[in-house]
Amino acid sequence: MSFCDLALDCVTKLQPYVPGKPIEELERELGITDIVKLASNENPLGPSDKVLAAIAEASKEVTRYPDGNGFTLKSALAEKYQLSSEQITLGNGSNDVLELIARAFVSPDEEVLFSQYAFAVYPLVTQAIGAKAVIAPARDYGHDLQAMSTLISAKTKLIFIANPNNPTGTHLPADELDAFIAQIPEQTLVVLDEAYVEYGDQETDSISLLAKYSNLIITRTFSKAYGLAGLRVGYALSHPDVADLLNRIRQPFNVNRLALAAATVALNDDAYIAKTKQHNDAGMKQLVTGFDALGLSYIPSTGNFITVDVKRNGEDLFTELLRLGVIVRPVANYGLPKHIRVSIGLESENQRFLDALGQCI
Ligand SMILES: *Cc1c(COP(=O)(O)O)cnc(C)c1O
Repeated sequence: MSFCDLALDCVTKLQPYVPGKPIEELERELGITDIVKLASNENPLGPSDKVLAAIAEASKEVTRYPDGNGFTLKSALAEKYQLSSEQITLGNGSNDVLELIARAFVSPDEEVLFSQYAFAVYPLVTQAIGAKAVIAPARDYGHDLQAMSTLISAKTKLIFIANPNNPTGTHLPADELDAFIAQIPEQTLVVLDEAYVEYGDQETDSISLLAKYSNLIITRTFSKAYGLAGLRVGYALSHPDVADLLNRIRQPFNVNRLALAAATVALNDDAYIAKTKQHNDAGMKQLVTGFDALGLSYIPSTGNFITVDVKRNGEDLFTELLRLGVIVRPVANYGLPKHIRVSIGLESENQRFLDALGQCI
């Protein structure tokens, strides 16, 4: 008997998500220490002392289930964005929420639309429910909203847009997005995935679009600028009826106690976000200066990562960089075999990467 014969067709065809290589794994494999990980767009500054204290405090109560409604965090989010708590769905990372959206709304005979080079989780959640992925060609590595519009059919239930996009770092201006959403049929949901919004030049006011478009869902996360990737907490902002449906299918305790406590404190730590952004801007400058010096071209990015054309096989380069103790992200799985993506790290980490890159190029 083969378990593959027992499983759903859409599941056997899935290619699992490949995460950034953990530091521990590389240490085990190569026996090297002093490893620099620039592979998963984490905040190199780590959480603030305030947040660490909140986690320590919450850890005293881990024998108890967390608040399944996330009352305190939702209230803080509602206050910050001037929305109602009924418009919020909390997730075990925003990936959780992306999956909930697909599961709640898309049936196997329907279509999910996203762009070429878009975030790898979109095809995954689409396939997992057996729906059809429709992929619009990109323009200059970014979303081509015109091309996306022409691919909308009566079957299009969901559109995913990452802004900025991962792995390309490309950004869509608010007015273009607004005009795009305005012509989307009401029965098609638009997910605006803003995992990196805090790194943008001015925090785009996408939130105000929620009042205009009931079919818009905005997702955000504490994994990136807030420095809490290991705790897993993200959320969706939407019409209350959409949130109600998402909240029906999520697990009752999908966000854990430590994550709730940490996120609530982190949310309003504006100084930490400002410091993070400033640090990221400087690191981005350091990397592009380094790329220029090496004669490499890159895709201009508004995130905390950048994708660079290394003019050779990116997987091979990834392996060579590993041997030098630097973990980056190959992006051949995105159809970019000659690029690698690198996250902005500490100044010393960026330098380690640039030195190793120079050695390999
Ligand atoms: C990192 C990332 C996320 C966030 O994932 P979490 O589950 O919140 O850690 C969502 N969307 C994109 C495009 C990302 O790059």
